This record gives sequence, C-alpha cells and structure tokens, in this order.
Amino acid sequence: MNLISLLKKYNVAGPRYTSYPTVPEWTEQVKSSDYQRALASLQAEEKLSLYFHIPFCERLCHFCGCMRVITEDHRRTEAYIRALLAEMRTVQQNLAVKKPRVCQIHFGGGTPNFLKPEELEQIFEEIKKIFCIEVDAEIAIEMHPRTSTVEFCQMLKKLGFNRISLGVQDFDPRVQQLIHRNQTYEQTREMIDVLRDLGFHSFNFDLIYGLPGQSLKTWRETLAKVIELSPDRLAVYSYAHVPWKSPVQRSFKDQDLPPPELKIQLFEEAYQMFLSQGYRSIGMDHFAKEGDELSQALDRGTIHRNFMGYTTRAEAHQLGFGVSSISYVGGHYFQNEKDLKSYEQQATLGELTTFRGYLLNQEDSIRRDLITQIMCRAELDFEKFSKKWKISFKTYFSQELNSLSELIEDALLIVDQDRLYATTSGKLFLRNIAMIFDPYYQKQKLDRPTFSQTV
Ligand code: SF4
Repeated sequence: MNLISLLKKYNVAGPRYTSYPTVPEWTEQVKSSDYQRALASLQAEEKLSLYFHIPFCERLCHFCGCMRVITEDHRRTEAYIRALLAEMRTVQQNLAVKKPRVCQIHFGGGTPNFLKPEELEQIFEEIKKIFCIEVDAEIAIEMHPRTSTVEFCQMLKKLGFNRISLGVQDFDPRVQQLIHRNQTYEQTREMIDVLRDLGFHSFNFDLIYGLPGQSLKTWRETLAKVIELSPDRLAVYSYAHVPWKSPVQRSFKDQDLPPPELKIQLFEEAYQMFLSQGYRSIGMDHFAKEGDELSQALDRGTIHRNFMGYTTRAEAHQLGFGVSSISYVGGHYFQNEKDLKSYEQQATLGELTTFRGYLLNQEDSIRRDLITQIMCRAELDFEKFSKKWKISFKTYFSQELNSLSELIEDALLIVDQDRLYATTSGKLFLRNIAMIFDPYYQKQKLDRPTFSQTV
C-alpha cells in the first residue's frame, strides 16, 4: 500500500497523547487538596519544569484551539501578574523543599510577548526567589512575530532565555487572511535577525498543515522560506478541526479546507523537504537539526512528550502557573481554573485553583509509560519494560498484541521476540499504534466526536 493510501486508511479521530489518560477522562473530583499533597511529596533531588500561561492575544486567529483572551487592553495584565505572583507564593508554601531545582522554564500562551518587558522581569524575579534555576536550564518562550518588539527581545536576553519558539503557521497571504493572522515573511525575518544579533541561536518554528486556502504550490513556497530562515527545530502540526470545541473554526467554509488527500500531501511534502535539508524526524510531527539537543536526546532515548510537545527534560515534574495551566506532579495531573476572573480571584486570595485532574493508578501509569515510549521513541523493549514495571509484558498486553496484526500487515509496525518498533512509514502513525494500548480511547471512540483526526 502506498503512503497516501495508508494515510487515508489510518486517518481517524484520535488523541494526540500529550497526556495519558487524555483530558476527556479527567475529573472535577480532583481538587486543590490533591495538588497540595502532590506538591508536599516532592523531594529535594527531584527537578522541576515550570510552565507559565499568558493567555492574552490582540487578535483571534480563526484556527485557534488554545485557552486565550482576546483584548487590545494591555492593562489587563496587571491583575493577571498579581495572580501569577500570588500563585507562585502559594505553591512555595506547599512545597516541603526549599528552593527546588528547575531545569526548564517555558512561557506559552496566548501570546507571552503581550506582556511588557518589565512585567516579564517581575515574574522572573519571583521565580528566582522561589526556585533555583540550574545553569544549563532550558528557558523558552513562544512569540508572535507581528507583535514582538526589540525591547522585549532585549529583555529576553537579559533574563537568560535561550530558546525562542515562533508561531509561523503559513507565510501565504491568502491563507493568513483566511485564518485571520497576518504576519509577513519580512516581519518574521526581521525579528529573527534582531534575536540572532542579540546572540540567540536556538529557534523553533510552529507550522500548521491542513489550514484553509493551503495548496501544494503555496505550501511549497512557505516551506522554502522556512528553510531560508533555518530554524533548529520545527513542529509541523496537523490543523485540528474541532468546531464543536472551538466555535470560531465555524468561520471557515468547508470548501476552503483542503480535502483529506491534499492535507496528507501537504504533510508528506513537509516531511520530504525537511529530511532532504538535513533535519531528523522526531516522533510524529517534529523535526530537528542533527546537532540540536532534541536530536541528541533521540539518540540517548531521553525524549519525553508533554503539553508543550516533545521535550528533552524527561524526568522533571511539571508545575503549571496561570489560568488553565496543567501540572504533572508525583505522577498525577492537575489543571488550574479555566475562567480568567475566577482564576485571578482565587489565586490572588492565596488559593490553589485546581478545578480538575486525574490521579493515575498503577495500570494507568504502566500504560502512560508505554504510550510515551511509542510516541517518543517509536519502539519498546519488552524485557526492559517488564523489569521496570515488574510484569510480563507479553502476558499483560496479550490482547493488545493480538490487535496489532493490521498495523503489522500494512508494514507500519514490526513485533519480534524482544521488542516492537515502528517502521519508517509507521512513524507517521504513532498515534494509531498508541491508541491500541489505550482502553479509554477504545471505549470512547464510538461516542461523540472528541478528538481531531490523526493526520
Ligand atoms: S496567537 Fe495563538 S493563542 Fe492567540 S489567538 Fe492566535 S493561535 Fe490562538
């Protein structure tokens, strides 16, 4: 079967596995008191990854599925920063460890560069009071090229940021018009020049395929411009059309969306283009240059996957700050309040704002580890896994192993005595492989639409 036929066959609705169990399984029975207990259980030798959600954006991109607040009123950050600082202090009070070590900090959004430079500095000063940032910590921020300023970039340098992630999506003006996100190639290039002059040398671009108005011709032009700008990493996401969750996506006319065959060709084009330019394929949808840390982590088998995509800091507990942020601490998930006003009120009063989460049992943890290994390494060693979890892999997962036959027949997966691993083509279908091991998905798939298409 050729690649296009395979992509058509396996293009079904399925989770992205940035968490396991996936969010539809989470429950509001998980409360702040559970998060408190998880924070208190952290040990001095354990490392942390901090995530800060800055929800504000000046304009609404019509493809957006993120938690964001659209406003041009920059004074709205004042109350938000008060809440963020208060939340950090509340978390600190619940930690048994003084000044825990932090190996990764990530500002996401929304648009983090909606903040004024001095506001970012204010947050950073509080981080330094509470946590000990390791010398080689990865300090990253997502930026919108159209709204960033030279002063903001200078502040990033001063504060020690070392990784910049730019939302590019597509450079074609017609696509940009349809998705309501205008940022010219020149604006993006100028911003990168400013950042490179300041000494930044680690860039990630986010691209999206399957957006309205995309054609093979315009997409090739976008890819050529991306190559010119030479980012170190690329995330090439499939546009998730979930209008039942993000009603703004109803602004797209059906005829503007690329049909499934074209969408698949767009991904294949990007895949071939980046590989031919010396990038390595990481997981399902990421690419990294040979010398990049993500590429090296792939060789060492230390890549992990979380809500920010693929990361090299596998061992860290994740503390999320800000409205709707997700934490993964002590093996359990906790999500902050999703309503901005309620978040600000509760956090400013010194409360943790957990509104839902998931406490994993032993079986969930075993399956989470398995799905993470498939999504990150595209392989699994039976003996190592059995030893780690004190199980016999083949007995524990006998039913799932029997369900892999179609993927094996289609040459997407190889299962031998010692391990299972995806073939080169199979790496495009890691979500489909993982889905076999996810009993919650198997139950849900017959219900209402919950997930986007896997391709
Ligand atoms: S900038 Fe990002 S978060 Fe804001 S509306 Fe656009 S896609 Fe959504």
